[in-house]
Amino acid sequence: MSRLKQFYCSQCKEKFESKAKYNLAGFRTAKCPKCKNATLLPLGKGYKTTYWILVVLILAIFLVNLVDGIFKVTVVGLALVVMGIYSLIKDKQIRKDKGII
Ligand SMILES: [Zn+2]
Repeated sequence: MSRLKQFYCSQCKEKFESKAKYNLAGFRTAKCPKCKNATLLPLGKGYKTTYWILVVLILAIFLVNLVDGIFKVTVVGLALVVMGIYSLIKDKQIRKDKGII
């Protein structure tokens, strides 16, 4: 978990190595030693897969309920979908910024 990871500061373009910390949404973050800007790395592979499964699963449950005539949106389900989609979009932006595909 505490391996040194290559970071590339999006603000001052400084390259540095740091221990990556995971934030709540599963992004790896580190503070740039030069400008103190918090740099994000894309989602770890496990997190990305988990988010996809989560979003697809909850949407599937929602659709199945809808077909049965039940319109039920739980707060937890909604929050997870929003968080999942938000993280996936953010992950895409970070990858685009850093030229990672
Ligand atoms: Zn920097």
